[in-house]
Amino acid sequence: MPEIHLYDPVLGISSLSCHHGTIIQFSYLCPPKKLERMLDLVTDRTHDEARQGEAFTPLFNKAGGFKKLFYIESYGCAMNFADSEVVASILLDNGFAATAHYKEADLIFINTCSIREKAETTVRKRLTEFRVLKREKPGMLIGVLGCMAERLKAKFIEEEKLVDIVVGPDAYRSLPALVEEAETGQKAVNVLLSRDETYADIAPIRLNSNGVTAFVSIMRGCNNMCSFCVVPFTRGRERSRDAHSIINECKVLFEQGYREVTLLGQNVDSYYWIDEQKEETVTFARLMEEVALISPLLRVRFSTSHPKDITDEVLHTIVKYENICNYIHLPVQSGSSRVLQMMNRTYSREWYIAKVDRIRELIPDCGISTDMITGFCTETEEDHQQSLSLMEYCRYDLAYLYFYSERPGTLAARRFEDDVPLDIKKRRLQELVDLYRIHSLRAMQKEVGKTFKVLVEGVSKKNEDELFGRTDQNKVVVFPKGSLKKGEYVNVYIKSCTAGTLIGTQIIEKNLK
Ligand code: SAM
Ligand code: SF4
Repeated sequence: MPEIHLYDPVLGISSLSCHHGTIIQFSYLCPPKKLERMLDLVTDRTHDEARQGEAFTPLFNKAGGFKKLFYIESYGCAMNFADSEVVASILLDNGFAATAHYKEADLIFINTCSIREKAETTVRKRLTEFRVLKREKPGMLIGVLGCMAERLKAKFIEEEKLVDIVVGPDAYRSLPALVEEAETGQKAVNVLLSRDETYADIAPIRLNSNGVTAFVSIMRGCNNMCSFCVVPFTRGRERSRDAHSIINECKVLFEQGYREVTLLGQNVDSYYWIDEQKEETVTFARLMEEVALISPLLRVRFSTSHPKDITDEVLHTIVKYENICNYIHLPVQSGSSRVLQMMNRTYSREWYIAKVDRIRELIPDCGISTDMITGFCTETEEDHQQSLSLMEYCRYDLAYLYFYSERPGTLAARRFEDDVPLDIKKRRLQELVDLYRIHSLRAMQKEVGKTFKVLVEGVSKKNEDELFGRTDQNKVVVFPKGSLKKGEYVNVYIKSCTAGTLIGTQIIEKNLK
C-alpha cells in the first residue's frame, strides 16, 4: 500500500477505496528515499489497493452442519470482489460454510486478476504461502478463480503443482461439483466462457460490507478489444444482466439499510437489455433512472464509462436525479491520438476532450477521474507530452496511473513490440503522477469553505471520535461524530483538506432527504 501521504485520518495511510479503485495521495514533503518506493507503489497499483488480498469475513454461516469450511481471498477490480460475493453465495447454498482464517479452512479459494503482470506475481507469491500449509494439511484443497484461472487454464495445474481446482469467471455455478471431483484426487478445471451467464438469479452474499455501500454487477465481459487489455480474453463476450434482477437487488439492498449502490461493468454505457414482456429496450440511462427511483435516499454511482459510448441521455439522467452522483470515471489511457489508435480505443484526443467539455457543460460540478498508461508500444516523448497536456486540460479529481505491462495473447502483444524501456515507462509515469498530485490537491483545496451533503460510511480509522463519508463527487470527508450514525446523510462544512481528504468541522444539518 502506498505510504507516501499527507495525513489521512480515514484510512491511516494514503490509500482510499473509492469508486472502483484507489486514490493515491502524495506528500509534497515526501523524502527522496521514499520517492523510489512511491513509484513502485504507483506502478504496482491494481484497482483498490486497500482491498487487495482481502479475505471474506462472513457475517453469518447457515445453521446446522456443513460439508467443508471455505476461505476466499480476492484481488483485482471491484468486479472481482463482486464475483467473490457470488461465489460465496453459491457455496453457502450448497452446504459449505465460510471462515475468515485460511489456516482453519478445508478449501482455499483465491480470486485472481490478470490485468498487469504484477497482479499475477502477487497471486503466485500468495500461493507459495498456501503451499506450506498444504504440506501440514494434505486434505486441504486449493482453488484458483477468476481471470488468471481463465488465462492460464489447465496450465495452472501444471505450473503450480499445489492447485487442485481452476475455475474461470463464467463457471462458478459448477464449483460444488468441481470440489467433489477434486476430493477424489482428480484435478478439476472449468474455464468455459459463456455468452449468457450473468448470475442474475444469485443473490450475492455481501463480504466485509460496511452495510452502507454495495457494488452491483450489471453486465459481464467486454467486446471492446483495446489492444493492451486481457479482459476480453479472461472475461469473455459482453452480456447485460436482466434489468429486473438488478433493480430488485438494489431494492433489497435499500431495504437492508444500504444507501449507495455502484453499478458495475467494464463499459456500463453499452448496457443493453430487452424486456421481452414489455417489448422494451433498457439502456444504461434507463436502468440508472429505475435504480434512482427506488428512493431519493439511495445514492447511485456507476463505473466504468467508455468515452466512445457515454451519451447525452446518460448525462441528462445524471442531471435529472439528485441521487445519481455527479461523478464519472472516464478512462482516457493516452493523450496522443496516434497511441489511442494503436490501443484501439476508437476515439481521438479531440473526441475525448469534447466529451469532457460536454460533461462540464451539462454538469458543471461533476467529478471526473481517469485511467492512463505510460510507455505503450512506440510511445514517443511527444506522445507523452500529449498525455501530460491532456491531463493539464482535464484536471482530473482522481487518476489511476499505470505503466504498460504486456499481457500475453492481447492484440498488442501479438502485433507490436513492447519497445519502451522500463526506466522510461517509469519516468513518464512519475511525470504524470507529479502533475496529477498538483491537480488533485487543487481539486481538494477548491472545496474548502463549501458545504457538502455527505453519506456517512463509518468511523474514521485514525480517530474514533470522527466519522467519514463521501460527497456526491466522491471526495472523502472526515468530521466530528456527534450523534450521527452510518447510513445517514449530513451537511458538512469543509474547513481544511489534505491531498486526499476533506476535513469538516461543523455539522450543519443531519438526516437530510
Ligand atoms: N473497462 C475499463 C476501461 O475501458 O477503461 C477499464 C478496465 S481495466 C480492468 C482497468 C485499467 O487497467 C484500464 O483502464 C487501463 O488503464 C489499465 N490496464 C489495462 N491493461 C493494462 C496493461 N496491459 N498494462 C497497464 N495497464 C493496463
Ligand atoms: Fe479492457 Fe478496453 Fe474492455 Fe476496458 S473497454 S475492459 S480497457 S478491452
